[in-house]
Amino acid sequence: MWIDTHCHLDAAEFETDRAAVIERARAVGVAQIVLPAVGRANFETVRSLAHAHGFAYALGIHPLFVERAADDDLVHLRDALAEHRGDERLVAIGEIGLDHFVPGLDRDRQARFYTAQLRLAREFELPVIVHVRRSADSLLKHLRQVRVVGGIVHAFNGSEQQAEAFVERGFKLGFGGAMTFERALQIRRLAQELPLDAIVLETDAPDIPPQWLYRTAQERAAGASSRNEPGELPRIARSLAELRGLSLAELAAATSRNAHAALPRLAALPAAAPA
Ligand SMILES: [Zn+2]
Repeated sequence: MWIDTHCHLDAAEFETDRAAVIERARAVGVAQIVLPAVGRANFETVRSLAHAHGFAYALGIHPLFVERAADDDLVHLRDALAEHRGDERLVAIGEIGLDHFVPGLDRDRQARFYTAQLRLAREFELPVIVHVRRSADSLLKHLRQVRVVGGIVHAFNGSEQQAEAFVERGFKLGFGGAMTFERALQIRRLAQELPLDAIVLETDAPDIPPQWLYRTAQERAAGASSRNEPGELPRIARSLAELRGLSLAELAAATSRNAHAALPRLAALPAAAPA
């Protein structure tokens, strides 16, 4: 049994064949999927998808969506969290964070939305699902000021020292398609050497395609698809099992246990019912 701790199943890329995507994931043993929100416009979508299919969801405003978010979207988020407080499928606040990779973004505004959402995580006693790109130190700085129960740093791509700092704060680190590339030396080294109990698996589908789905910009321009999907999780996991010298069964058990530790409400959910 596998848990995809981060999948944007509501994305437009899945509009035409979402049911088949879910069926393929189930067929290969993906028993649970966490659907993070990215902004006010998709809060209701991730919630209803999670309920329709027996999955879990998170509510939050993604750093790349902060620019188009209105200030009162934070009020709306708080209202939605209060309204769904008792919803067993609401497992975290996310996806929140800081993106210092994409040029031209308003970093102060990102930081304001990030810290406001950390405070909501405290208020509602929920873990957080965090987006990191060239921003690990800033994320950690704010986590020292607003202490939350922990959560997942998804698609982790920082240094070993930064990884350890997140782990000390009670976070698990998400690994996915990026680790399947032989040239991703740093990510592969971390995936190999971090304590096993620090690691959770994710696809970030439809994004972060594993190596076997990767297409060059030129191929994509010619119409080739590099869409990732949750059914790729076991094959992505095989890369990690090989790096660590573990059996797939051992890795599935350990990463599921870690996902439950990071998102305690997940542990109380029954495995998703058949479609
Ligand atoms: Zn994401």
